Amino acid sequence: MHIAVLGAGPAGLLFSLLAKRRTPRWRIEVHEQNPPDATFGFGVVFSQGALALLERDAPDLHAGLAARMESWPMQRIVHRGQAVDIDGNGFSAIGRLDLLRFLQGLCLEAGVDIRFDRRFEAPPAADLVVGADGLNSVVRQGKGFEPQIEWLTNKFVWYGTAQRFDCLTLTFRENEHGAFVAHHYRYSPQMSTFLVECDAATWQRAGLDRMGDARSRAYCERVFAQDLDGHPLVSNKSLWRQFPLLHNRRWSAGNAVLIGDALRSMHFSIGSGTRLAFEDAIALDRAFGEAGENVPAALAAFERERRPVVEKLYAAASASSYWYEEFPDRMARFDALGLAYDYMTRSGRMSPERLRAMAPRFMKQVDAAGLSA
Ligand SMILES: Cc1cc2nc3c(=O)[nH]c(=O)nc-3n(C[C@H](O)[C@H](O)[C@H](O)COP(=O)(O)OP(=O)(O)OC[C@H]3O[C@@H](n4cnc5c(N)ncnc54)[C@H](O)[C@@H]3O)c2cc1C
Repeated sequence: MHIAVLGAGPAGLLFSLLAKRRTPRWRIEVHEQNPPDATFGFGVVFSQGALALLERDAPDLHAGLAARMESWPMQRIVHRGQAVDIDGNGFSAIGRLDLLRFLQGLCLEAGVDIRFDRRFEAPPAADLVVGADGLNSVVRQGKGFEPQIEWLTNKFVWYGTAQRFDCLTLTFRENEHGAFVAHHYRYSPQMSTFLVECDAATWQRAGLDRMGDARSRAYCERVFAQDLDGHPLVSNKSLWRQFPLLHNRRWSAGNAVLIGDALRSMHFSIGSGTRLAFEDAIALDRAFGEAGENVPAALAAFERERRPVVEKLYAAASASSYWYEEFPDRMARFDALGLAYDYMTRSGRMSPERLRAMAPRFMKQVDAAGLSA
């Protein structure tokens, strides 16, 4: 069987690795537009729950990644100059480039043929085409997948910084133009991700729509001066963008199937894009493990198993993204503890009982303040 995997991101590489290991005689080619050492952005974050799933499904990958990750046992909310820690909400992070290099190495060892530096405009002929080509997927175009996209209105930009942060933190700050939030965490001993977000009106009032990269960075450095402590922000093709909530009514068309961000986007506030890309890859490989070379049967099994899980998470991620769309109002309504509690219950999946079991120290403060009543 000849498999063409389009896109050497986390989804395409992991599927190729697992499928090649399972059936070494299959010819698996990965087509990637970038060179091996190029990537956008900085670090990606995984919840402890996501890592537990990875450990179950791909133990050697989990062990290799765990050794390269920065980890911490809590999340922090900073608002009105006060920090609130949410115990039990642990995360780990890794540089995206480290992650991709590690996966590339495993793929090459397994015999996957990765072809870098080639942009494709249409999928090549193959027995199976795996569209792992991200948000702007070429495979998705004109193939009957029926994509649906809703654009969120907030603006965000993804920077890095050499400032080291204790843990995954959301820092809310205000100035004369409006409200800002930074999502930041260290992903290596030397570097942290620093994602800045604001509503569209604030973005315009601040003049960020008219600023180039250097002025935009300087502006954000002023907004978060206390948090950056003199460390500059670093760009890597860092552009202000709006987040697309994307999903497809059909997951496969003919012999082509979508996985990862090509299939659907999950808002970065639930930190799950890479995890979902991995889980799609694992589920697709499993489906082929059962169906062998029967492509239609494997694609049907993949969708049957994955769709219910993905739809549940998609609903939670969408609820989380709508919370961010209203974050200036919430900043005005709540103090730091109230905002942290509102944030933790934003997706509708976290009851006070569940939160008490997960974050007893945090919930002790919430209960004492009468916020959970
Ligand atoms: C601002 C921001 C912050 C994020 N933060 C996190 C986070 O903290 N944690 C997390 O888990 N996820 C995060 N994500 C999401 C995460 O980056 C993606 O969900 C994840 O990378 C999806 O993996 P993928 O393999 O599906 O797609 P991608 O990683 O996008 O890979 C697709 C690949 O296909 C290649 N490609 C595309 N088109 C072509 C073409 N025509 N020809 C050849 N090659 C092509 C691209 O170059 C790319 O290498 C974030 C995303 C954004 C935008």
